[in-house]
Amino acid sequence: MSVLAIRTLGDPVLRCRASEVGEITDEIRTLAADMIETMYDAPGRGLAAPQVGRSLRLFVMDALWKDGTDRAPLVAINPRIVASSAGMRIFDEGCLSIPGITVPVERPARVTLGWTDLDGMAQQGALEGIEAVCAQHEYNHLEGVLNIDRLSDAARADIADRLAALET
Ligand code: ZN
Repeated sequence: MSVLAIRTLGDPVLRCRASEVGEITDEIRTLAADMIETMYDAPGRGLAAPQVGRSLRLFVMDALWKDGTDRAPLVAINPRIVASSAGMRIFDEGCLSIPGITVPVERPARVTLGWTDLDGMAQQGALEGIEAVCAQHEYNHLEGVLNIDRLSDAARADIADRLAALET
């Protein structure tokens, strides 16, 4: 396994809609393992394939390990948000592709995530709290959407100079 380079704001791959993963090949299994290692090394709670320069619908997450729980990485291939709660919640979110900037983002408090696992099996899970935040944040990456896109105009204006510095 190896730690991969993380693409940062300004890299066009972060703005592409990622392609479906077809057959789960050894290449995909290696990519997932490398992404897990990269996520823990960063350290982060989640990482999407476009963030390592691969425009594929695949993300890894382990929302709770930084809070001291045992490591339990999830690999989500071709994920989809099956359902979202009407209730919203605001969390402060960082992003490994936007280093040093944490922004308050409002999202549905609970979601049902569907995905294919590395064995090709369909999975579904109900997520809440930081796990729901993480899954939605990583899913957005597959659509070319970043957490800073979800800010109010005023909040984005507050960090505009720091974002511009990152993009150059
Ligand atoms: Zn991110």
